[in-house]
Amino acid sequence: MAYLSSLSKSQWVWLVGTTAVCVAIVAVGWSLQPADEATPALRFTTALSIKEIAPKLDVTGKSLARELGLPIDVPKGKPLKKLGVAQANLDEAAEHLLSHRSTRLRYYVFAALVLWGLVFLRRLGRPDGSPSSQRKTWYPRAPYILALLAAGVVFGFWLGKSPNPMEGVVKVFKSMVGLYPSVTDKAIALAFFIALAVVGNKLVCGWACPFGALQELLYSLPVLKGVKNRKIPFLLSNGVRTILFAAVLLVLFGVVGGRKGSVLYHSTNPFNLFDLDFDHAAITITICASLVLSLLTYRPFCQFICPFGFVSWLAERLSLARVKIDAARCNKCGACIRACPLDAAKDKVSGKLFAADCYSCARCLNVCPQDAISYGFSLGRKTHGTGSNDSG
Ligand code: SF4
Ligand code: SF4
Repeated sequence: MAYLSSLSKSQWVWLVGTTAVCVAIVAVGWSLQPADEATPALRFTTALSIKEIAPKLDVTGKSLARELGLPIDVPKGKPLKKLGVAQANLDEAAEHLLSHRSTRLRYYVFAALVLWGLVFLRRLGRPDGSPSSQRKTWYPRAPYILALLAAGVVFGFWLGKSPNPMEGVVKVFKSMVGLYPSVTDKAIALAFFIALAVVGNKLVCGWACPFGALQELLYSLPVLKGVKNRKIPFLLSNGVRTILFAAVLLVLFGVVGGRKGSVLYHSTNPFNLFDLDFDHAAITITICASLVLSLLTYRPFCQFICPFGFVSWLAERLSLARVKIDAARCNKCGACIRACPLDAAKDKVSGKLFAADCYSCARCLNVCPQDAISYGFSLGRKTHGTGSNDSG
């Protein structure tokens, strides 16, 4: 309440206006949502062929063949029972492919949450005119926690797993090996997620991704604080994430293993949680391990596994708004480095070009005794964190 009463009139306009726009974005998404998108009641029998079933599942024949455990060049016009497919196998494959059907409303939700995060970080977190001596009251956690609860608990479980940024990356490559009908559609979906990551540094991960939100909420619990202070070196986490990404592509394109179309990420897809789909032990283990480890370390799945985490880390160089450190004011006291759960603040202070991931979590924005940190647009005054190092 003290925070709200300290906002200026123009900040109130931003607060009310942004809230109204976010609600309007979700409402428009809701009204445009096709009625038949919810839960398609489709039932297929093995008397049908791949050619007949695949279009109804919105995948290619190759994708359905791969899902059924058949070679991707199997005859697509033959009834499945003649190919030796059991009904239970078909049911399981159809259920899995249907679970990847996107709800379009979720795109609007992502956009609304990112907008809310951007305005909070850029315009609302620090009351206008508030001196540095009051910095401890800046960037209260409640608006962030509310956004995370909306992303992870409300929209996550309500709307299900698709679409999400992780599958945004994976589906582009799957469509390139013929597992989805249109590469363009999947590329547009990925471009949408990258745009949300670029508008404000990794905002889509930090503020809107449902699985990112669950990890962030667990990490925010005031438990095991001593352990949390130990950070995983970025070189290690990003090294694992990069190698995994390369390995997935090599296997998917058949360069390794010789079985084109196999997707290693399937067994580590934690977004299945939002469909309550725990059919595969590896997925259940990934979900449980990621959530339990989130009590000890920051976003373990994002740091070590997520392909969108890797892609958006590369895209961070292009971010329009981001955490900026004023090199002229910074005396390298290390307050922001201690507040940051990753190596991001350390790398920004030292002006590293390829700094560790920054999730726009705001932890560093109210700790600087020199008032050297802000969340601003890249083309502002000369700072670190803009992609150019002017620290000399
Ligand atoms: S890096 Fe984390 S927050 Fe970002 S898409 Fe992946 S799981 Fe979600
Ligand atoms: S604390 Fe670290 S991750 Fe969070 S906004 Fe600051 S630099 Fe980014």
